[in-house]
Amino acid sequence: MSYEDNNIFAKILRGEIPCKKIYEDEYVLSFYDINPQKKIHALVIPKGKYIDLDDFCKNASPNEMVGMFKGIEEVAKKLSISNGKGKGYRALTNIGSDGGQEVPHLHFHLFGGEKIGKMVE
Ligand code: AMP
Repeated sequence: MSYEDNNIFAKILRGEIPCKKIYEDEYVLSFYDINPQKKIHALVIPKGKYIDLDDFCKNASPNEMVGMFKGIEEVAKKLSISNGKGKGYRALTNIGSDGGQEVPHLHFHLFGGEKIGKMVE
């Protein structure tokens, strides 16, 4: 499977469609999910073209990997949901069809601002 250049997050990264930006640096972009599932529902995506976590772990550089996780930390701090500044949150990434992935560009969902509840249905 190869990366699909016209997926919605690729278009957001190219500035072709808007997003409600939370944070951006060299490695990641973060914005609010258009259809929030919890009080706070943010997405954090790498700037590189990676389909999912499998693809990222196989092909991303060490700097991109560190950048991804530092980006998540920055967003959690900025939204005051990190454990310490806030009360914690859930980070989740869906992979492939059994995982329920809809957009084929790696993204981490950050859910917070309230009790997130059961881990899986
Ligand atoms: P997943 O099922 O893990 O692939 O999640 C895709 C997520 O992207 C869903 O939670 C959608 O609500 C969200 N989404 C789709 N289009 C947009 C968009 N244009 N801006 C922000 N979030 C989006």
